[in-house]
Amino acid sequence: MHYHTRPFGVIMIYKNALEAIGHTPLIELQRISEPNAARILVKYEGVNIGGSVKTRTAYQMILEAQKRGEITSDSIVVEPTSGNQGIGLALVCAVLGLQARIIMPDSVSEERRKLVRHYGAEVIVVHDEGDIGKAIQECIDIALRMKAEDPRVYVPQQFENEDNLLTHRCHTALEIAEDAEEAIDGFCSGIGTGGTISGIGQTLKRLYPDIEIWAVEPENAAILSGGGIGTHLQMGIGDGLIPAILDQEVYDDICVITDDEAIEMSRRLAREEGLLCGVSSGTNVAAALKLARKLGPGKTVVTLLPDTGERYFSTPLFDGE
Ligand code: PMP
Repeated sequence: MHYHTRPFGVIMIYKNALEAIGHTPLIELQRISEPNAARILVKYEGVNIGGSVKTRTAYQMILEAQKRGEITSDSIVVEPTSGNQGIGLALVCAVLGLQARIIMPDSVSEERRKLVRHYGAEVIVVHDEGDIGKAIQECIDIALRMKAEDPRVYVPQQFENEDNLLTHRCHTALEIAEDAEEAIDGFCSGIGTGGTISGIGQTLKRLYPDIEIWAVEPENAAILSGGGIGTHLQMGIGDGLIPAILDQEVYDDICVITDDEAIEMSRRLAREEGLLCGVSSGTNVAAALKLARKLGPGKTVVTLLPDTGERYFSTPLFDGE
């Protein structure tokens, strides 16, 4: 048995769950990577505390707001979100003993709502009439109204919050660079708030100036490519708006992925690589494979698997299972 163990002398006990956030593994795809293409490395956020990459941003946004004095012990954290950010905030607030209220469209999976409640936060559901952009905007409006009415309300506003982007620029990206050791030639990511692509992209561009970075969009919410906005299955990305923190200079090209491509790749990740992940992970790897084919053998492409597949049982990802 060859377990990966820590060197002797490294502290093994974290003071709380928040200290254990991050340091997720970077894993080479053995069967999905193709012989005549670049190798693909994935950062598997499904094993992060809270089951997604968004626990990182939740913690950073709350921590920085506390430092600025914008959050005190009687604050109520209210956030409009299409899912994982709500779970992350509910978790972080649970550990810190803060009240949390999460506002989400009913088109996100039922598991996400249940998880938020399970971490002790309140959930407010907004009806999505087939336009995710409109539903998200309504969630944002409700949160801002609550803030106007109650001075205890703090709204992190992940779509505009620079600390969201800084999490990735200062932590996630450096973890990737440290683990990859060799140069990284390509990076791609779907866009929810744009924090991941902007933050990781900025650091990787600084470290590897020749890197090729692709923004990835669902076919039915390809707003950067000038497409229409509809409902799609790639939860967590393609929210139908161009986020304020998205660095539109950081990516070199845009890649559009269909729901079928995303779901098929997410299933392949479980069946061929043992990586249980959500649909947007399939989106990212479907794009990474196209980028890997373009860059060719001997190169390295990195992408993220933003969350675990266990919050998708009620979605088409698990149809027929
Ligand atoms: N995938 C999933 C499953 C997500 O929850 C998110 C966050 N909304 C993303 C991708 C995109 O991350 P970001 O907000 O950093 O663009």
